[in-house]
Amino acid sequence: MNKYNCPTCQNKTELSKKNIFRPFCSKRCQNRDLGSWAEEKYSIAENDLNLPLESKNIYNDDSGN
Ligand SMILES: [Zn+2]
Repeated sequence: MNKYNCPTCQNKTELSKKNIFRPFCSKRCQNRDLGSWAEEKYSIAENDLNLPLESKNIYNDDSGN
């Protein structure tokens, strides 16, 4: 039997096709991980939103000349 620790709660979890929440032990742990990942992605997307705006201003200034 393949046993490993759930990445979220570190509980001993069975690695089998029965476990639909792999690599997590439960839906709760899966959601927790997805939640933190989505939060991280959102903050990155927010930073990305500011970058093109800045480069666009530079581009406009250049082409308007
Ligand atoms: Zn877990």
